[in-house]
Amino acid sequence: MATAALRGRLTWQTATVKAVSAETPSVVTIELDVPDWAGHRAGQHLDVRLTADDGYEAEREYSLASAPGEAVAITVERVVDGEVSTYLTEELRVGDELELRGPVGGYFAWDPGAGDPLTLVAGGSGIVPLRSILRHRQRAGDDAPARLLYSARTLADVIYRDELDQYRDGAQISYTLTRGQPPGWTGHTGRINRALLAEVAWPAEANPVAYICGPTSFVETAAAALVDLGYPPDRVKTERFG
Ligand SMILES: Cc1cc2nc3c(=O)[nH]c(=O)nc-3n(C[C@H](O)[C@H](O)[C@H](O)COP(=O)(O)OP(=O)(O)OC[C@H]3O[C@@H](n4cnc5c(N)ncnc54)[C@H](O)[C@@H]3O)c2cc1C
Repeated sequence: MATAALRGRLTWQTATVKAVSAETPSVVTIELDVPDWAGHRAGQHLDVRLTADDGYEAEREYSLASAPGEAVAITVERVVDGEVSTYLTEELRVGDELELRGPVGGYFAWDPGAGDPLTLVAGGSGIVPLRSILRHRQRAGDDAPARLLYSARTLADVIYRDELDQYRDGAQISYTLTRGQPPGWTGHTGRINRALLAEVAWPAEANPVAYICGPTSFVETAAAALVDLGYPPDRVKTERFG
């Protein structure tokens, strides 16, 4: 049993694209049919490998966007001149095949049941594994109190906005917009810093665990601020998208 699961994770397998849906003008979610998928935990990622006709290969990592038990899905943001993300967001069609390997990464995974308050901090496409965590928490009926702070350039760049807003009943969802705000915007503005985290994250006294994901400089700023606010470093989990 364990051997089969391990082999599934380490072996490249062929997945078929079941659906492609636009999240924002530069972000798509790709749902995949993976016959030998061994299952995943919220917060894990997978490796994607593309092979050109001349044999050239490119490999990239993508977080799992779906909750455990749901169809495998990834959400990809098009990076300017990005080799793999441009193909995945612009060329890929339903019925196409992709090579992938996973799930990978246990450190950033979250499982229901511990009850620790969750401080979730996302920058841009860093929301993807945190969406999997929030989705899993909701589906599992877990009552860990959650607070999400999500930094995006503009409101139109917020990925999964409708879904995240549905979690407001059991979770505090906060946005900060860094490059422009719509008329009447009452949410936060500007980049994430210590003062904003002091305002919206769980205080350290609540014994929270933090999951931070996004570009490297964003993750480092947010992690340092939470440690400065009293979070023990081993309670601050980070995932850098590069
Ligand atoms: C563990 C992990 C999980 C990830 N999960 C996701 C995910 O869920 N969704 C997602 O969209 N991406 C995710 N990424 C990033 C992804 O792996 C690729 O790096 C990204 O898609 C760019 O690849 P590319 O081939 O298009 O760009 P490349 O051709 O590799 O790079 C093109 C240019 O863009 C710059 N660049 C590279 N990556 C980024 C970036 N993330 N942001 C801004 N500039 C960049 C490079 O420095 C270079 O100048 C994850 C990365 C890691 C390590």
